Formats: sequence, structure tokens, C-alpha cells
Amino acid sequence: MISTRSYSLMVHGGAGAFENLRAPECEAETIESIRRILEDGREILQRGGSALQAVEACASLLEDDPLFNAGRGSVLNEQGRAEMDAAIMDGRDLSAGSVAAIGEIANPVQLARRVMSESGHVMLIGEGAVRFAAQCGIPRVPDAYFLIPERIEQLKEAQKKLQTLSDKKNDGHEFGTIGCVARDIEGNLAAATSTGGIVNKLSGRVGDSPLIGAGLHADNETCAASATGHGEDFMRTVLCKMISDYVYLKGMDAHQATAAGIDFLTRRICGQGGVIVIDHAGNCASGFTTRKMIQGWIERGAGTIVRI
Ligand code: ASP
Repeated sequence: MISTRSYSLMVHGGAGAFENLRAPECEAETIESIRRILEDGREILQRGGSALQAVEACASLLEDDPLFNAGRGSVLNEQGRAEMDAAIMDGRDLSAGSVAAIGEIANPVQLARRVMSESGHVMLIGEGAVRFAAQCGIPRVPDAYFLIPERIEQLKEAQKKLQTLSDKKNDGHEFGTIGCVARDIEGNLAAATSTGGIVNKLSGRVGDSPLIGAGLHADNETCAASATGHGEDFMRTVLCKMISDYVYLKGMDAHQATAAGIDFLTRRICGQGGVIVIDHAGNCASGFTTRKMIQGWIERGAGTIVRI
């Protein structure tokens, strides 16, 4: 029998990343990292921590791991800088915080959380967001923190090929955002998404990840969802909110709503990417249109599963 006081947790590490620069030996490392992060999240939820705490903690750990395209491991923009987007949403009261096109912050998801709880706004961008971080006592880190050799090499390769943003959409190899969704034992839902965006993107480009409804959504009455993939596709379809609406308006569970959302994404715009979803009953589901999506989950307190 399913206990309603059970917790569920899901994380993703992007769709398509392994078709990019990754050596096959990174797969084992990535699986291990996702497993460890899920176990840390389990500990929070098991001892009665909130879904919001769990998604912030797990997203921060993913941002700290240079294997993923967020925080430390963010891909670089056309100017060779990490310019990051992140957001967090609390399904209890639909409160949300997000930051876009920011540099110099090690954990953008933590700044998004402060925007939610302390700024009186939902979204801050660029310099203003970084100034707000200073007011919150969040230190700046130097650009060098993000300049890991793989990312520099990856940018050089992309620039050699003279890729434009639309070329990137066509090759579909560049996605590696992180995301996390959780249901705590009180039945509260939360979602977080964080990214460096797309390699060699134009400076100032903002993707779906910090946009409520596109890159994430959380509502206790429906589900929590976090997306990864070609951001412009998720912006145009507002996919996470659409999945939430399938639950709300059609009574679908996480599996049905995710399948319906992915079907729409494919049928209408041949969109590239994927999504992880936990519904109000704690069901875990995922769907993607790319060849792979790095993901792991704990469904209603059961064992940890990781898939690439
Ligand atoms: N969705 C992100 C963006 O477009 C990229 C990713 O998921 O890897 O900024």
C-alpha cells in the first residue's frame, strides 16, 4: 500500500550531454554523482525537510559538480564567460524566484531562492541580480572559477565550426542543464532548474530555465516539473505549465501528463529536450525527445534509480 506520507525526488543532468564532448568514462562518474546527490536529498526528505529545501540542496550540489552544465560547469557564451540562468518554485503557494544572465555567482539557484524570499520580485537579471546577491551576503567568485579546460575547448570547437544559435538547434548536442523536483512527506511540491545555457550563445541570451512555466513549474495541486533542452522550444510551448495543466484540467497523472506534453513538443515544433515530473501523489515520470537524458529518482521512498 502507498503511504501518502512518503517522499519522492527526481533530478536530471540534461538531455543530450553525452553526445557532446564527454568521454565514455564520464558516464560512470556522472551516474555516481547523481546517485550521491539523490542520497543527500533523501536524507533531507526523510527527516521531514521540505521539498523546497531538497530541491535547493540537490540543485546546488549539481551546480558544484563540473560534470554538469550549471554553476561551476556552465558552458561558455560567445565571449568566453559563464552567463547563467536559474529558478526555483514552491508548490505550496506558487511563490517563485529566478535569475537570468548572471556571472560570478557559484550557486545561481541559491540566489534565485533569495530573490523569491527577500526581494519582493520574481526575477532579477544581470548586474542588478549580482548586486542583490551582494546585499544578501552571497560572495562573488572570479570568472576563473568557471573556466574549466573542457568548457574552453568546447567553446573553441563551437567557434571553429562558426555555429550560430540555429545551427545548435539542428545538431542538438549541447544540452546539459540540471534540474530537480521533489515531493516532501507533507505532500508539498517544489522544482528548481539551473543552467549555463547553450555553448557559444549570444551574450544576453536567456533560455527557458529561469522562466516560470517554461523551464520549471510547481503547484501542490498538480505536479512539479523541470525541463532541459533547447530553451527556445520550451519557451514557445511553456511546456512545464502545460504538463501541470494536463494534471489540473484533465486529471492526468505524471506519466500521462508528461507523455502528452512531450507529444505536443514533438508534434507542434519538433522540440528538443526532456522533462522530469513528480505529481501530487508522488508518481515520478520523465520524457525526452533527444537520444538520452541523464536522470535519477526515488519514488515514494523506494530505492534510488539512475539512468542515462
Ligand atoms: N534549456 C537550457 C537553455 O536553453 C539548456 C539545457 O537544457 O541544457 O538554456
